[in-house]
Amino acid sequence: MQLPLGFILAIIIAYLAYRAHSLSQGGAIAATIVGTVVFGFGGLEWAILLLIFFITSSALSRLFKKRKQGLDEKFSKGHERDAGQVFGNGGLATAFVVVHALYPESTIGWVGFAAALAAVNADTWATELGVLNPTPPRMITDLGKRVEKGTSGGVSLFGTLASLTGAAVIALPAAWFADNWSLLPLISLAGLAGSLFDSLLGATAQAMYYCPTDQKETEKHPLHTCGTETTHIRGWKWLDNDWVNFACSAAGAVVALAGLFIF
Ligand SMILES: [Zn+2]
Repeated sequence: MQLPLGFILAIIIAYLAYRAHSLSQGGAIAATIVGTVVFGFGGLEWAILLLIFFITSSALSRLFKKRKQGLDEKFSKGHERDAGQVFGNGGLATAFVVVHALYPESTIGWVGFAAALAAVNADTWATELGVLNPTPPRMITDLGKRVEKGTSGGVSLFGTLASLTGAAVIALPAAWFADNWSLLPLISLAGLAGSLFDSLLGATAQAMYYCPTDQKETEKHPLHTCGTETTHIRGWKWLDNDWVNFACSAAGAVVALAGLFIF
């Protein structure tokens, strides 16, 4: 009964998000799959965590759209999330719902799910709010080096605090629903760790391209926003933004689950 209900709710929310240009057509289909699994195999508490991520990240992208004008081309995609972004952000969390369905007595499903979402939420909050930092960010691999706002791998105090807040926004209901307050610091810090890992990949292994027309570094490939073909300058070609987001969620889940077993 919960699965068809989950499907109906997911399709309504995905359709509304598609109409509001928060999701592309492929993104809406992907979100329907994610939403159906999360509500169908998890339940209301699981769906609430997913919705907090989806609603706050979409709202932040819109809220700061104007202040970030000119920075947008540093990011490889616009505000309409496609299927790759949906699975990159929510794929691992969805897998943890399946873990919960198979092992309902284990806390691994819930903690892994919440931490994976906390990490991508932390990363989104840091990306959206970090650009409001008054001074340019510093490179995570070389904190003495200032880089242009929006550069992959750039970190700032404001962005880091935004990241921790974004993680806590998921960790708070996760701890509340589990009636286990040790999950609040655990999942918050795991989310922050995932987001920092995301920045580290952005500074090192993530595929980066160069637009000769604008003489700028970009995540965009094969074409830049201006229409010019971009050339690969560093990083692993397969490691695009979607895989970096997936790695971010994986790092968050690994840190939280390690903490769960150590403490
Ligand atoms: Zn260009």
